[in-house]
Amino acid sequence: MTRSLRSGHDHPRRIAFVGLGHMGSHMCRNLTTAGHDVSAFDLDRRAVRAAARTGARPTRSLRECLEEAKILITSLPGPPQVRSVLCGADGAIAQLPPGALVIEMSTSSREVGREVLSAARAHHVEFVDAPVAGQTIRAEAGTLAIYAGGSKKAFAHALPVLEAMGDPNQIFHLGPSGSGYAVKLLLNLMWFMHAVATAEALTVGVRAGVDLERLHTALVHSPANSGFLERDVRMVLDRGDYDEGFAMKLVTKDLGLAVDLARDAGVPVEMASLVEQLHQRARLSYGDEAGEMSAIRLYEDAVGVPLRSPSAPATTRPDS
Ligand code: NAD
Repeated sequence: MTRSLRSGHDHPRRIAFVGLGHMGSHMCRNLTTAGHDVSAFDLDRRAVRAAARTGARPTRSLRECLEEAKILITSLPGPPQVRSVLCGADGAIAQLPPGALVIEMSTSSREVGREVLSAARAHHVEFVDAPVAGQTIRAEAGTLAIYAGGSKKAFAHALPVLEAMGDPNQIFHLGPSGSGYAVKLLLNLMWFMHAVATAEALTVGVRAGVDLERLHTALVHSPANSGFLERDVRMVLDRGDYDEGFAMKLVTKDLGLAVDLARDAGVPVEMASLVEQLHQRARLSYGDEAGEMSAIRLYEDAVGVPLRSPSAPATTRPDS
């Protein structure tokens, strides 16, 4: 595994950026802030106008966005969109010049990654899968963790650009094409497992009569601690914030892809399947756009116990 170091000798690149949603809007802005010449495209015209306000050149089509670009970055919902933007006769790869680089930063599948790689090879274009972690807060700060797969040459080509969006100490070159997607799916899977485990333990503890904050403190200082328990769940406990920056429709997409990955690898994953189904249930209960920690609400609603710190505003309780 290779970690990056900020080179400090980068020069401005001509970059096309496609997919200006919760994550891509911030990533695109950080590229323009770093001095790159960025053209921006999204199917949503409002997202393109917003990108123009932060220094990108607005474009009306994929073709216009790609004009003169040597680097294309995509941040799209998932495999179908990645395939349709990059592959096929009208796809971006067919329109890029030989020697160009595609950095695909969506959480997508290795299967579509293989299709993209094969199209890229046919057109002499380099391809790096580079999905991200860190929620919108780190996308905004330009300190994302980035998980890259691809040849050493392609990664070296991508690195200066990745450093404008990610924390240089958390840009990982994990191996050949598809490695980034695999690692991203696995870390997401573990994080959502922690979410369910945390929700269960806290709900049971509170119903058993233990004060929520004392329970939380004791667990944090125990061998059962996790980053989710110590840090991430505080959004729910302190503010009733389930993080709408990452929608349940994308959470269930990611968990489904993780189960698919395990199936392809021939590994039975009973726990992953159960956690995926719990999140499907939360999506059905609270909606496609509900926040990524909505599975916690399933437990709160089942027993009528809101997991809220005494200092949390009363309006953040699920039944208010
Ligand atoms: P989003 O739905 O907010 O944004 C996706 C954008 O892609 C939208 O603006 C949409 O209009 C655009 N789009 C879709 N199809 C398109 C097409 N054919 N051409 C051009 N634009 C198209 O999603 P997001 O939350 O920004 O996530 C982007 C990716 O990053 C996803 O794969 C997600 O799983 C991953 N991710 C998200 C988070 C998060 O906290 N939101 C964290 C880590 C990884």
